[in-house]
Amino acid sequence: MKILGRFIWFLVLTVITQVGGLIYLLNLGIHRFAWKPKNRKWLKRQFSFIVLYVSICLMIVPPLARLHHRQPLPWYKVTSLQPQNWFTIACNRHYVHTNLYSVITQVADDFSTTSAHNGAPLILNYLDANFPFLDGFPLIPHLSHNDGKKLDLAFRYYSKDKHLPMNQTVSLLGYGVYVRPSPGEIDQTTICKQSRWQYDITKYIGIPIHDNMIYDGGETKRLMTLLAEADIKKIFIEPHLKNRMGINSDKIRFHGCHAVRHDDHIHVQVR
Ligand SMILES: [Zn+2]
Repeated sequence: MKILGRFIWFLVLTVITQVGGLIYLLNLGIHRFAWKPKNRKWLKRQFSFIVLYVSICLMIVPPLARLHHRQPLPWYKVTSLQPQNWFTIACNRHYVHTNLYSVITQVADDFSTTSAHNGAPLILNYLDANFPFLDGFPLIPHLSHNDGKKLDLAFRYYSKDKHLPMNQTVSLLGYGVYVRPSPGEIDQTTICKQSRWQYDITKYIGIPIHDNMIYDGGETKRLMTLLAEADIKKIFIEPHLKNRMGINSDKIRFHGCHAVRHDDHIHVQVR
């Protein structure tokens, strides 16, 4: 029973963080052969795992990932790019190929510096990227985020009352609160749901947290234009939003019904 429990922990940590399962085993090994906490054993074991996990993720994973041409996206608020939530960083889901890193940081800088709004700087929110290691290792639930070359970006929003651009998103995790098609626009979700049940599965994680913000079609289009002009291979967004934006670029494509709907975020991938 104990072994089964440990195996489940190893599996869950590996699926969510990639390296967490191995660090869990390392921590068990340290307890077995080097240090045997006696009192409040369970608590001490969890505490030492957290210390070990944080230390390895901060000091060992980034240089090792660099050997695989991947590097972590910025996670502190001093650049024009930031993680939408802390979970992305805590779980190592913010690694990208070095090519994607340079492209996306340049787009974020351009987006911020060419803003027509004076005042607070504009910061792009990124969502899930990739794990630090191994081509083919998927970032669940995104099966395609498995080679460092994929990244999800949040839409842009403005405040309902002052009409100012916001550097936040309307949902807790950045996914699942949709910009739905208006009457007369292509309703891709209804079409895909006829054959693929999972197409709108992100609705289950779409927890609204800011009801004072509205989707900013103009600024999202400006971001899409910069992305289309950058050295990016494909950009996925829902067809009704592509048509609404009117950007003529063959990089902007429909992702297919086997994926999930993209009227809550933008997916980009490099060569
Ligand atoms: Zn994606």
